[in-house]
Amino acid sequence: MKRNILRRLFGGFFLLVLALIVIFLAALFFSLKNNSARLLGGEYKKYSEALAASFAPRLAVEDLSGLRQQALALSQRAQWRLTIISADGQVLTDTAADFQTMENHFTRPEFLAALRGESAYAVRYSQTLGEDFLYAAAPVYAGGEIIGAARLSLSLRRVTVLFWPLIRTALFGALFFLLLLFLLAFRLARRIASSLDSLEQAAGRAAGGDLTARVYLDNDDEFRPLAEKFNQMAAQLAGSLAQIRRQKTELETILASLPHGLLVVDGQGRLKLSNKSLRRITGADELDGHFYWEIFREAEFGALLKQAALDGQNQVGELVKSGRHYTVLVSPLPEDGLVVLLQDITETRELERIKRDFVANAAHELRTPLTAIKGFAETLEDELSAEQKHYVTVIKNNAERLINIVRDIMALSELETGQALEKEKINLKTLLADVQNIFAARLKEKGLTFSIIEETPVEIYGDIFKLQQVFINLLDNAVKYTEKGGVTARIAKTKTHAVVSVEDTGSGIPPAEQSRIFERFYVVNKSRSRALGGTGLGLSIVKHIALLHNGEVTVESSPRGSKFSVALPL
Ligand code: ADP
Repeated sequence: MKRNILRRLFGGFFLLVLALIVIFLAALFFSLKNNSARLLGGEYKKYSEALAASFAPRLAVEDLSGLRQQALALSQRAQWRLTIISADGQVLTDTAADFQTMENHFTRPEFLAALRGESAYAVRYSQTLGEDFLYAAAPVYAGGEIIGAARLSLSLRRVTVLFWPLIRTALFGALFFLLLLFLLAFRLARRIASSLDSLEQAAGRAAGGDLTARVYLDNDDEFRPLAEKFNQMAAQLAGSLAQIRRQKTELETILASLPHGLLVVDGQGRLKLSNKSLRRITGADELDGHFYWEIFREAEFGALLKQAALDGQNQVGELVKSGRHYTVLVSPLPEDGLVVLLQDITETRELERIKRDFVANAAHELRTPLTAIKGFAETLEDELSAEQKHYVTVIKNNAERLINIVRDIMALSELETGQALEKEKINLKTLLADVQNIFAARLKEKGLTFSIIEETPVEIYGDIFKLQQVFINLLDNAVKYTEKGGVTARIAKTKTHAVVSVEDTGSGIPPAEQSRIFERFYVVNKSRSRALGGTGLGLSIVKHIALLHNGEVTVESSPRGSKFSVALPL
């Protein structure tokens, strides 16, 4: 880690510094060399002029051997390399090389300058001697004419060796600086690495689930705020996690103690969650991960779940599983999935059955003696005095009322057993006309009109006796609670339903009571209802029969009259 950081942070940098040092030293070297050459060039130009003048007499008379000796003597004394070149470029003598093998010097720039009458210098690599040389040349005059040139050469190596100590010192200085830099970098890297190490270790522990991990840094550097933030974050996470765990345990406890079966399924229908009660209901040990249809094979269960998923609405239904009855409540989740709650209602259903049986039996048992009482009261009526007759009439009327109640109770309990309807094709107008006949006498007696309006002929499938009962009850009420005017039965249809309405011009039902009149034994005005022979069960029976046909009954009422509408599916 440490070495890695060091290399990353400083590797490139070191190379750069090293390259800069090398470039700097090379530039220093070449600059010194060039400056020295320029300085020495100026000096050597003057020397070459002096030498040219001293060679002029011998060159003028072409005393070549004398010239050579003179040049040699001078070169030995002054450690110079001397070259004498004739005006046509031919080397006449050279103190460092064999002049006979040397090429023509006509192209050399310092020589060409000398031929133009100027003394000049040039720096060049000498092919002859294989090193850099400074050449300074001056013209040799004889009688005002240039007859050749004298050239002085200086090996630049002799000059550059003087720079080496300086370059070496600079190099050591730079290396020392670099070393210092490296040490500083190393210390910095070690500090960063140790901070990063601590952070990494703590983060590793936290990632592994240990949220007690904290970072304590020795250095007060840029990582300290990071470490503090990490510690805060870990503490906060630990807090949140503990809270979530607590809530989860709480939820699990609640779910486990819930007497209802609970399951949560995902969008694919796979169980994500289930509770103990559900395991008891299904008798399976492990449910999560299974598809719900592997556990609930009942078609009605699947239909409820599909409907809820489709509508996004809560659905309620019933399910019979292993002989037990359940209410099933399905709620779609905001995301994908459903929550399903199963409530065991076996006991309730059983109690309802017992109650129903009891009521049916009791009603049945009551009917025979009541009929006898009524019959005997009627027989007695004819044989008694006026006062006695009044009492017997009261007995007879009450017996009749009780008989009606018993009849309605029996009808209701029969409907509640949920026996299948015996359906057949029914023409609604014929049905209403039959029912009308039952009321013909009473309508006449009360001076009420009755009409059937068939907006369109409608036929439906239904249980004819039960539907007769519906309209008998509705017409009975209409006639009972209407004093003048009349009753209208209207047959109409919508796209999906046949609608039969029974409308009267009676006293109407106060709005507050309208929602309650379909309840059992609910009457708006007790004494009036009793006087008219009502039981409070008529509308309950109507509602029940409508529901059995998957239809519904509604009421609209005002003080000018009431309208009961029965909608039955076509
Ligand atoms: P009841 O045997 O008393 O008529 P129902 O269940 O048939 O019992 O009706 C419940 C109550 O609704 C009645 O007591 C009555 O007050 C009211 N009601 C029903 N039909 C009508 C109607 N056509 N006009 C006025 N009130 C009505």
